[in-house]
Amino acid sequence: MKNVAVIGSGVMGRGIAYVAALNGFTVHVNDINQESLAKAQQYIESELTKSASRGFIEEEEIQSTLANLTFSTDLATCVEEADLVIEAVLELMELKVKIFKELDQLCRPDTILATNTSTMSPTEIGAQTSRPDKVIAMHFFNPVHKMKLIEIIKGLDTSEETFQQVEKVGQQMKKETVEINEFPGFVTSRMNCLIGNEAMNMLMEGVASAEDIDKAMKLGLNHPMGPLELADLVGLDTRLRNMQYLYETLGEKYRPCPLLIKYVKAGKLGRKTGSGFYQY
Ligand code: NAD
Repeated sequence: MKNVAVIGSGVMGRGIAYVAALNGFTVHVNDINQESLAKAQQYIESELTKSASRGFIEEEEIQSTLANLTFSTDLATCVEEADLVIEAVLELMELKVKIFKELDQLCRPDTILATNTSTMSPTEIGAQTSRPDKVIAMHFFNPVHKMKLIEIIKGLDTSEETFQQVEKVGQQMKKETVEINEFPGFVTSRMNCLIGNEAMNMLMEGVASAEDIDKAMKLGLNHPMGPLELADLVGLDTRLRNMQYLYETLGEKYRPCPLLIKYVKAGKLGRKTGSGFYQY
């Protein structure tokens, strides 16, 4: 595995591309939106400079990482030589299926197709391709360069060989991995969405302020971030899509908090729009 394509250059795609390129993979980044690609490139340059100034990486790694990266709106060119494609577009099953069908046509028969979905079924996505044995989920965490884990989720037909190859890629990216048998929300999203939703319900009920709910979870329960600041970091639109999928698949306890729906309707999506449960 040497050549990686990342589809979607938003919050997660840019982070995955950064970590892959830093660890020696050739990375082609694709997005339908040129502005998103430009922002991703700027983000990676700025993170590299910050990391070098703090002594986390050597100065030479800035140039070697940038040399490993290309950015393009042309999907076919991005994936033609890929050993592994990692999809990180919006959490919408229809969109993911459409992209995987295209990838199935455009990629070599031996290319592994991975999704960075937070909740959805790699079995359902893989079944729409001619290679369900080579479809898997690699669930990275935000911010990708700081978070140590990748959840690797095997669909019903994912082969052991695919799992092992992806696990090895994770190790080359200097991440820890856990092996998950597919179920909606895996381990982390299933738990984290509930905690976040309960925090939003408490805020809506006037139990405490956003600051105090987050402070209570950090200092009382030793969470490194409060659930509301974490939701702002994830993006409230992304979190709502996660909740909607879990509500559809797992039932009532995942019903999205009405306050979350209201914030998304208002365009208050968290850090990425400068306003969510907090102002940025
Ligand atoms: P985002 O909204 O920040 O970025 C999505 C990107 O996909 C955008 O740049 C958009 O232009 C692009 N896109 C849309 N349609 C496309 C297409 N047809 N082809 C190529 N690019 C396309 O979303 P995100 O937060 O990066 O989430 C991406 C995925 O990662 C989702 O499945 C999400 O559930 C998952 N995820 C998110 C987080 C998080 O903290 N945000 C964490 C783990 C996993």
